[in-house]
Amino acid sequence: MRKLFQPGGNLGVQDLGGDRYRMNISVPRDLDGRMARECPDADCSPGYFKVTPGTGITGGQVQAYCPYCRHAAEPNDFATEEQRRYAKDLVMREVQRNLNGVIKDALGLGANGRRKFGGGFVSMEMSLKESPLPHVRRPFEDDVRRDVICPHCTLDQTVFGLAVWCADCGKDIFLSHINAEIAVTRQMLGDVQRRGELLGKRVAAKDLENCLEDGVSIFEAAMRALVRRALKERGTPAEDVERQLTKLGNAFQNIGRTRLQMADLFAVAIPENCIWGVLAAAFEKRHPITHNLGVVDRKYLERAQAAERHGREVRIVATEIEQMLTALSEAIGFVHGALFPASQPEPVHMQAAGSSSSIE
Ligand SMILES: [Zn+2]
Ligand SMILES: [Zn+2]
Repeated sequence: MRKLFQPGGNLGVQDLGGDRYRMNISVPRDLDGRMARECPDADCSPGYFKVTPGTGITGGQVQAYCPYCRHAAEPNDFATEEQRRYAKDLVMREVQRNLNGVIKDALGLGANGRRKFGGGFVSMEMSLKESPLPHVRRPFEDDVRRDVICPHCTLDQTVFGLAVWCADCGKDIFLSHINAEIAVTRQMLGDVQRRGELLGKRVAAKDLENCLEDGVSIFEAAMRALVRRALKERGTPAEDVERQLTKLGNAFQNIGRTRLQMADLFAVAIPENCIWGVLAAAFEKRHPITHNLGVVDRKYLERAQAAERHGREVRIVATEIEQMLTALSEAIGFVHGALFPASQPEPVHMQAAGSSSSIE
């Protein structure tokens, strides 16, 4: 009797005996050669990421990690639901292919799927009409992505939230991710002049405001992620962590309030140096411009006049944003180092993650 699976074939079927088979199913990659992964912990959010096979740990990897919660498991355990469905579809396709053969064999039908009985007074013909093999859908994967290369094991990975851990080596890659985010804003900033010449002053001014907003958002998101992780690591119950974060509100949009909160929550003293000064000044410039749809109101004019009397400029300029981006990287690095001294990158990577411009 023919078996449901024939050895070999597209899936490289191996018969292990006792109705056990081994098959090779290669998970399709996206256009960039990346493979989707999903955290086995259903409570992990976003829990979804991608890795580029061939980068990072190659050969004999026994354990992989979730970039968001550091859940550790065998690499196969990180298959996505789409990939499991895809694998099942491929196996069922193979079953159907062989089932047709099983039926033909059982009925003694020839290769053409027909058999003639009799031939005298009565003759009858049987035929098997094979239904077409089901079409196997390829996994659908989201296009929203951030690519981060691990400075420790060089794994090229894609994440959809703020990554803390490398999916291959499990080391802390938080600062690499933050620096990748800052680099995107820096690229946008680098294009402001060209866009200004092409699209006009209003667009260029708006681009600058957006870069400033991005800087504030990166700082706020990074600080909230660091606070969440630090509270958890210090044994704060999950519901208290969330309550604490709600209580913080938008404190991290302002450096003065950030200073108070860090002292209060973790006894971390944020230094009074130029890095934090640059951030404080840039963050304060955001209020009059971004609120009110960019329309200048009386309060703004009063502030502007006051600033003018003191020889200050109210509008943010490109060099200030450039300095803010450099300061961001150093400030977040400082807080990360203060909260997680054991999880610092090696010195060589500190250098690589450093600034492309310096603050005088
Ligand atoms: Zn996870
Ligand atoms: Zn790594």
